[in-house]
Amino acid sequence: MHEVYLRPGHDERVRSGHLWVFSNELQDLPRLPAGSIVRVRSATGESFGVGFYNPHSLICVRLLRTDELEEVTVDFFAERIAQALALRRRLCPQEMMYRLVHGEADLLPGLVVDRYGDYLAIQTLSVGMDLRLPLIVEALRQVVPETKGIVEKNHSRLRELEQLPQRQRILYGSIPERLILEEFGLQLELRLLEGQKTGAYLDQRYHRALTGRLAQGLRVLDCFTYCGGFALHAARHGAQEVLGIDSSASALDCARRNAELNRLEQVRFHEADVFSFLREQVSSGAQWDMVILDPPAFAKSRRHVPAAKRGYAELNRLALLLIPSGGYLVTSSCSHHVFEAVFLEVIFTEAARLGRQLRLLYRGTQPPDHPILLSMPETQYLKFFLFAVL
Ligand code: SAH
Repeated sequence: MHEVYLRPGHDERVRSGHLWVFSNELQDLPRLPAGSIVRVRSATGESFGVGFYNPHSLICVRLLRTDELEEVTVDFFAERIAQALALRRRLCPQEMMYRLVHGEADLLPGLVVDRYGDYLAIQTLSVGMDLRLPLIVEALRQVVPETKGIVEKNHSRLRELEQLPQRQRILYGSIPERLILEEFGLQLELRLLEGQKTGAYLDQRYHRALTGRLAQGLRVLDCFTYCGGFALHAARHGAQEVLGIDSSASALDCARRNAELNRLEQVRFHEADVFSFLREQVSSGAQWDMVILDPPAFAKSRRHVPAAKRGYAELNRLALLLIPSGGYLVTSSCSHHVFEAVFLEVIFTEAARLGRQLRLLYRGTQPPDHPILLSMPETQYLKFFLFAVL
């Protein structure tokens, strides 16, 4: 097996459990095909185990936390996936939808598998994983024998960093055009072949349920509603009136079908750019008792952080202008690069400028099926805050 050596003084992060080796940390980059297995050693020869190599990516090796392997096999994947599944069975035994494999945090760097009942949606975000899709499918069928279909949902910007194409196809069995699954008392329609991400935004599901419980009797504005998630939970818990906003017409079609499916009549959906819509609402003097903000990631890399902060500031400022005293602001960010303290500071600054006092009722991050490795801050991305506006 080929070996790569870290430059002197560059082994501390990997020793503490980080799974990435950056290309500028290696003494030299051997001419090996992307996706090969290599062993990583410190400058003095200590082994950090083997990993997937990609000389064309800034993340040059993704370690697998194993020392013995010569080549990655179906058994290797089956063992890791079985561990991941056992954890989910413990964490969310009653749920039909969850993240079965969360990449690095499940020691399967670059692999995401979401479970939707008997169907699985996969993303492979590194060449090493992508080349081994057939082995992964085989392992998933072994470990989750009830699987009826596996779809590859490889539309992700992260794949471009590995020079991988955008791709979607059925890898095993068949995928129904639509699927209906339950999320905390709500029936939700899923179109795995059409939907964004792997189909749903599973990472906010506990926050949707929590927010819904608070919404009884309130007038609720759900911004970036996608298939209606937060809006529908609010309506189910007896919100007086709910309006969901999104710029995607197909997401809103799905949201309307979900409202019908659950016989929720007090919820409406409207296609608009959230920023323009909020500005119009402010100038027309509208008021909402609860405003929910769940935007896409504004900072895709570190250099986008200043612009992202301006975006979050504007969004939260507009929302606060619509919320009377006694109302609620529900706000989140899924940009890893905007850290929690920074996001909180942005919101505090806007509130203070408007002379509004916020009381933090709940702060959250990813659910436990999207675990966070302490040694890899990159595995933490979600920030969620529920504020009462005094
Ligand atoms: N709240 C949703 C997930 C939101 S994902 C849930 O709980 O399921 C982000 C959504 O924002 C996507 O549906 C996307 O179509 C929408 N979006 C992105 N930019 C937008 C904009 N400027 N205005 C309105 N919607 C936008």
